[in-house]
Amino acid sequence: MKALEEKILKEGTVLPGNVLKVGSFLNQQMDSDFIMEIGNEIARLYAGEDITRVLTVESSGIALAVAAGIALHVPSVFAKKHKSANMPKEVYTASVYSYTHRETYEIAVAKEYIGREDRVLIVDDFLANGNAVHGLMRILEEAGAALVGCAFAIEKGFQGAGDALRAQGIRVDSLAIVDAMTDESVIFRAQG
Ligand code: 5GP
Repeated sequence: MKALEEKILKEGTVLPGNVLKVGSFLNQQMDSDFIMEIGNEIARLYAGEDITRVLTVESSGIALAVAAGIALHVPSVFAKKHKSANMPKEVYTASVYSYTHRETYEIAVAKEYIGREDRVLIVDDFLANGNAVHGLMRILEEAGAALVGCAFAIEKGFQGAGDALRAQGIRVDSLAIVDAMTDESVIFRAQG
């Protein structure tokens, strides 16, 4: 998605530890129209796949999952990272190591929101080492739901998780793939 690559070049900054900061449009501040453009693009890629749910993990995936869910006219569900009093007892759980926070946490999805009849699209803002997406995939396995594909705004291609998933036959669509980044430059993978 050319517009996303241009926005990363214009507004993104590279932080120590190979972290790409896109707080001005995708993370802390949301560019509403642009988030919806990303949602529409994801929906275009998965048109005709009979998606019944979009699944993400809180918090940074929620905006894109909701945008994709709106465009696909299906509910979006997010895995919770924090135990809350109003969380039902019946939950699917998985543990996930966070690359940005350098800690392991449990994610949980209420069983009532995903079931074996569902055809699920996983959506997240970033694919880095793949820990978050693998946690979500474990939850889908537990639920007996079908994983149709995984869509990311930005894949950090140099961390390898996307290509490993593709090699397993899992559909992965990333709207921008960063193959290398330094303080001065961000290099994108050419996509057909
Ligand atoms: P993974 O589990 O694939 O290693 O990392 C995915 C999660 O970590 C994403 O949901 C995202 O929130 C966060 N993340 C990983 N790398 C980056 C990055 O370079 N920039 C930002 N802003 N978030 C990242």
